[in-house]
Amino acid sequence: MTKNSHFKIYLVGGALRDEILSQPVVDRDWVVVGASAQDMQELGYRQVGKDFPVYLHPETHEEYALARTERKISAGHQGFAFDTATSVTLEEDLLRRDLTINAIARDEHGELIDPYNGVKDIHARLLRHVSPAFAEDPLRVLRVARFCAKLKPLNFKVADETMALMKEITQSGELQTLSVERVWSEFQRALTCPDPQPFINTLRECGALQILLPELHALYGVPQRAEFHPEIDCGIHNEMVLRQICKQTDDPVTRFAALCHDLGKATTPSDILPGHHGHEERGADIAEALSKRLRLANEYRQLATLTARYHTHCHRALELKPTSVLKLLGNLDAFRRPERFEQYLKVCDADSRGRKTFENRDYPQADYLRDALRALQSVDTAFVAANAKAQSEDIGEAIRRARLQAIKQFIKKYRNETPD
Ligand code: ATP
Ligand code: MG
Repeated sequence: MTKNSHFKIYLVGGALRDEILSQPVVDRDWVVVGASAQDMQELGYRQVGKDFPVYLHPETHEEYALARTERKISAGHQGFAFDTATSVTLEEDLLRRDLTINAIARDEHGELIDPYNGVKDIHARLLRHVSPAFAEDPLRVLRVARFCAKLKPLNFKVADETMALMKEITQSGELQTLSVERVWSEFQRALTCPDPQPFINTLRECGALQILLPELHALYGVPQRAEFHPEIDCGIHNEMVLRQICKQTDDPVTRFAALCHDLGKATTPSDILPGHHGHEERGADIAEALSKRLRLANEYRQLATLTARYHTHCHRALELKPTSVLKLLGNLDAFRRPERFEQYLKVCDADSRGRKTFENRDYPQADYLRDALRALQSVDTAFVAANAKAQSEDIGEAIRRARLQAIKQFIKKYRNETPD
């Protein structure tokens, strides 16, 4: 930036917010006041973004946006007309931003410009909208929910007036205009927060969960048998499982699978409640459909459906016959996909501990299946195959038999070593 240029550049948005909160700053956003597109091009900035001009700095590649105002012209997150005239002021640009804590700017002298009292709200731990225009963009519902997850450890909460606007957005029907990519992008970012639960709770509170993730919403209010699930409500159980899986891993794929493991309980016929016979198969179908609807990567879809289908097998692992153990490991493709198998075991463990009074109870099933796989891996299949060939036997069948033998030995040893 040249000294005598007629425009000014300010740091805005999340970087300032996070800096004031002593949180790690990931990316920095800048706003340029008084500049035209031509000014930016002449300085070597590269234009990106098709809806409104955003520029990448020639060296830092950080995002610089021309100050702009916006006017709602049609439904949805993108239904805005923009004005990026050089006369648009910093205050006008900050006014169109979602939350006061995201509407603070800092000039090159380190001076804060904070017309909407964002710093005060940071100290008050409040997520508060800047203006009533907040209600014009449905994406803001998801953003606020994500900020709830990100900032809950710092005790942030949504201001009542903002929650009222989020409910208004939900009722307007505009959430339905959001692309699945947008929904998933916010969901996935929430899933990588140390505690993603506030994301779901906030969406639920404003009614958006039912519209955006109806499969999760439907679990609330569904009962389970109190002897296995003292917490009874399937939605509460899901929350407890999420808490448990988050202690074990920050991998969003595994966390997503944990959220999906019991989706089938929402469609249990009412005459068999509080039992949930068959929820595994139903859940796998729902997890598959949900993953497809959100256009998730295969790893998300596969782990979620496998876990939904087979989590109760894992719970019963110690009672399974050798042939059933072998079949389960085969169905999970544990040989070829040991990392995914590990993710699966983590979800099953979290499912077991995600129950009232079961939190600290051991879950030997996971190690049992880990050891069973190890026993299978120790079978020298090349040797078995060569032997079978020499004796003109069916090779596949010979390997299967050798593996079954290994499982039988493993189970026998386990039972001898483990007191009842
Ligand atoms: P983070 O980068 O941590 O997700 P952020 O607040 O920086 O948080 P960005 O998506 O980088 O989020 O957006 C930068 C700034 O642009 C925000 O701080 C906010 O001021 C504004 N902004 C982004 N999206 C919206 C929106 N949908 N409505 C209003 N303002 C928005
Ligand atoms: Mg940002």
